[in-house]
Amino acid sequence: MNARVPLEIAGGTANAYDKVAGASNEVAGRLAQRLAAETTGEVLFSPADRGRYATDASIYQVVPVGVFVPRSAEDARIALDICRDLKVPVVPRGGGTSQCGQTVGAGLVIDFSKHVRKVLEVDEANRTVTVEPGIVLDHLNAHLKKTGLWYPVDVSTSAQATLGGMAGNNSCGSRSIAYGNMVHNVLGAQAWTSDGHLHTFGRFDEATGTVRQLGERVRDLAMALRPEIEARWPKVLRRVAGYNLDVFHNQNEKPYTRDGSVNLAHLLVGSEGTLALTRSLKLQLSDLPRSKVLGVVNFPTFYKAMDSAQHIVKLGSDGTLTAVELVDRTMIELSLQNPAFAPTVRSALIGSPDALLLVEFAGADKAALVRKLSELEQLMGDLGLPGSVVLMPDDVPQKALWEVRKAGLNIMMSLKGDGKPVSFIEDCAVPLQHLAEYTDALTQVFRKHGTKGTWYAHASVGTLHVRPILDMRRNGAPEMRRIAEEASELVRKYKGAYSGEHGDGLCRGEWIQWQFGPAINTAFGEIKQLFDPIGLLSPNRIIDPPRMDDTRLMRFPPSYKVIPLQPALDWSAWDVQNDPATERTTAPGTGGDPAKGFAKAVEMCNNNGHCRKFDAGTMCPSYRVTRDEQHLTRGRANTLRLAVSGQLGPEGLASEAVREALELCVSCKGCKRDCPTGVDMARMKIESRHADGRKNGWSLKDKLIARLPEYAATASRFAGLLNLRNRIPLLATLGEKMLGFSAKRSLPEWQGAHFFQGRLPGATREEVLAAAKPVVLFVDTFNGFFESENARAAFAVLQAAGYTIHVARKERDDGKHLCCGRTYLASGMVDEAKAKATELLDALHPLAERGIAIVGLEPSCLLSLRDEVTAMGLGERAQVLAKQSLLLEEFLAREAAAGRLDALKTQLKPLGKPILVHGHCHQKAFGAVSPVLEVLKLVPGAQPQLIESSCCGMAGSFGYEAKHHAVSMQMAELSLLPAVRSAPDAIVVADGTSCRHQIHDGAQREAVHAAVVLRMAMQRT
Ligand SMILES: Cc1cc2nc3c(=O)[nH]c(=O)nc-3n(C[C@H](O)[C@H](O)[C@H](O)COP(=O)(O)OP(=O)(O)OC[C@H]3O[C@@H](n4cnc5c(N)ncnc54)[C@H](O)[C@@H]3O)c2cc1C
Ligand code: SF4
Ligand code: SF4
Repeated sequence: MNARVPLEIAGGTANAYDKVAGASNEVAGRLAQRLAAETTGEVLFSPADRGRYATDASIYQVVPVGVFVPRSAEDARIALDICRDLKVPVVPRGGGTSQCGQTVGAGLVIDFSKHVRKVLEVDEANRTVTVEPGIVLDHLNAHLKKTGLWYPVDVSTSAQATLGGMAGNNSCGSRSIAYGNMVHNVLGAQAWTSDGHLHTFGRFDEATGTVRQLGERVRDLAMALRPEIEARWPKVLRRVAGYNLDVFHNQNEKPYTRDGSVNLAHLLVGSEGTLALTRSLKLQLSDLPRSKVLGVVNFPTFYKAMDSAQHIVKLGSDGTLTAVELVDRTMIELSLQNPAFAPTVRSALIGSPDALLLVEFAGADKAALVRKLSELEQLMGDLGLPGSVVLMPDDVPQKALWEVRKAGLNIMMSLKGDGKPVSFIEDCAVPLQHLAEYTDALTQVFRKHGTKGTWYAHASVGTLHVRPILDMRRNGAPEMRRIAEEASELVRKYKGAYSGEHGDGLCRGEWIQWQFGPAINTAFGEIKQLFDPIGLLSPNRIIDPPRMDDTRLMRFPPSYKVIPLQPALDWSAWDVQNDPATERTTAPGTGGDPAKGFAKAVEMCNNNGHCRKFDAGTMCPSYRVTRDEQHLTRGRANTLRLAVSGQLGPEGLASEAVREALELCVSCKGCKRDCPTGVDMARMKIESRHADGRKNGWSLKDKLIARLPEYAATASRFAGLLNLRNRIPLLATLGEKMLGFSAKRSLPEWQGAHFFQGRLPGATREEVLAAAKPVVLFVDTFNGFFESENARAAFAVLQAAGYTIHVARKERDDGKHLCCGRTYLASGMVDEAKAKATELLDALHPLAERGIAIVGLEPSCLLSLRDEVTAMGLGERAQVLAKQSLLLEEFLAREAAAGRLDALKTQLKPLGKPILVHGHCHQKAFGAVSPVLEVLKLVPGAQPQLIESSCCGMAGSFGYEAKHHAVSMQMAELSLLPAVRSAPDAIVVADGTSCRHQIHDGAQREAVHAAVVLRMAMQRT
């Protein structure tokens, strides 16, 4: 029987969440019921949903009672009322990219980011904008671009961070030296206090009613504590701890308002959801800088770099200095190891510096900015470093270098093993004159504790990011406390701010009293009491926080266990441990993972939220169309982590929750390339489908798709009959009912006269081994049986270029063609895929071993040889084959660069048409798109344009399935189909068979393989 459970959350008791958690079933039921009945929002209360919202970019994990995704601001208000009735704490959330655990709590998590994200008003004349809290910064700035204005608090997470979350954390960007923090750029806020009243917070001198009273009470507190505030408040720009009690008597380096007025909205900024629930924010905009220049200063020692920052910032007295960002030796080295970034880094280096400072000036007048670079050079000469500055006045090299700075951090975060760079003293801010001594002393602290940190970021404002490597599953928590304590002593010694950028949350709450002393801390408690007397809003955050090292609140507590698992693929590369001092990892397979490396691969996701992006790149198409945490790489990785550690029940990887989370993953490998820590969800999906299939069996549809290579030759004999399905709607409808293939789609058409019919063209194995210009053409099932013209075109192109071509075939002819096993992998039938890959190796390894290129046409097939086939435990032979496997364009681009394509080039004639190129996701993941453009440029006059697209949405069999049709079309409509439609005369090039099909279905245009374009150019007269 469900008795009514009275929950006491008032008074900021240390165990407010525990009480809710203890009664969660009964309360959660009522809460979910009421939310569903009284709002239009999404009510997510399943264990997996709650698990996905139990973490943010911090080390913490607290499972909420439930998750609510309001469809409107009104929904959020109603949810607040319901929570008050039921005494369930409210934990507001934006992108969930907080690093200190601000968004985790055992209450109702309200996610504003999906729907509550409108731009409410743009006032160009007064340069202000009013927005809902869920809008992402980049999206706001894209909206504002046409006005020549922008919102300049440019956090690194600008593609994910919401304005509500940024205000909650008082976030600060790389250019804060010029623009300040959130608090300097918020003009007003509408917010609900926990009693359900909506208030407008703005200028104190204009405030009336309750807001006026609240303001007066806070002012009285501030006045009473004025000497204490003056004595204890850090006098730096970057201080985000506690509440902004100094609004009445500014202690910040930069005044909070331009006219010296007091703005009560600033009390909410940095309050981390503990005072009120933001409904809208009014923001101050700035002019978009028209020009930027960059000076890269090379330093012989790290200390000298840190010591120079205080002098460099003085060049900014005219307001043009916008950033001074640090890149240290480790970052430089990591970037130099990356072939994509090495040339850019080298262009910024003079000799072998120990550190770089990236000094940016921005403004309207380029000539004036270039003069600032001369001033910088002169200053460095005066500081004893003449000739140490690399000048970058142009946009392109600047952009490239900023990218490298970001990528360096990503490489650092991708350290394998249980020790991870942990963010807990990452953003202490010290006055610039002490920066060198502070960083030096903290480095010694790390050394003493057997670890090390890589330094980067905002030298301009004394906030350098650094994350010591700690193993949170073992001794990380006590080690973290010891380092935090020693770091705090240094912060105190140099009169800095312990929490300078990323907020308090669970990690730094206990340091608020340390920073401000008991009197101010008590005043903070009184502010909380004034705004939220019932303690409904994010209780135990800022006020009465838990200890930072309470392992019960952690994602990887010492009790964390992984269910033993024998994965189907080889994950041993992740099954390692690392040495925190050297970052060296142990041999593959020695990490002690009961899931043989699969769990550790999953755990690489540190929840930074980078996959919640909509800009260039592929990751993550299913999130781009759904905006659901569940259908996001992060949500999937979290689901898998919870599953493999038994937190979703005993079924582990074969659970329903895992199946649902991966349902819309199109295996595009966008995450493999774009995720900072290299989470490869496509490969993980194979593993989970394997586990699922073994436990629950495979459907007829799965089997039909997987076994396509087996029956293709036989089926093609009945091409006419089978193709009737595309002409007789009744058959399509029947197909949908019986097999699940969408009746709204045409299926690929079988070819009676296909490539594999009869004798294969080209040279024998012996002939190719003896040839001067040998090549192997690997024709896959799709280009062999459905689009033979592509295989024939590729053959003709290679022949015209003078190659001796051997068409890949089995060692012993059994009437079947060679296959990479891709269709089996898609269904998780790894054993069958292995069998296929073994046949392939038997046939092709002897050729690959002799250095002969294995050239393929279909990206998903050929690139399997460089990816999954190497993870099947097939030994060194697979590595050899991977090295020689190239897509046709990769091969041709390589040969052209070596001067071996002259014969072909003379045969190519202009096509006289624009060319649009859509890259297959796997081509993008393997950096194989630019060769397509390079090769097409061999056609005289051709200027191929790349479509900035994510996944086409077809993704193998995904888009053919009836249940995915709508999502598939939405993915295509994101950018691909509109781009195709906007160029009606263009030749559309798409190397992926499913991409071509999607373009045909969605835009009624025939896209072609690049091989066909080259052949067309050969045939022109
Ligand atoms: C790799 C990385 C880089 C980062 N770089 C920076 C950086 O350069 N500068 C910086 O300042 N930070 C940085 N951060 C931290 C974080 O990204 C920022 O603080 C960001 O602004 C948080 O935005 P969010 O939408 O993810 O907010 P969330 O994390 O979802 O929430 C932040 C806070 O706001 C509260 N909140 C959210 N919505 C509301 C609402 N409607 N009403 C009341 N309270 C609300 C939440 O409860 C929480 O306390 C970084 C984080 C990562 C992982
Ligand atoms: S999947 Fe990758 S990008 Fe997404 S949150 Fe995890 S680590 Fe970040
Ligand atoms: S493989 Fe593609 S769809 Fe799947 S999680 Fe990664 S980016 Fe998203």
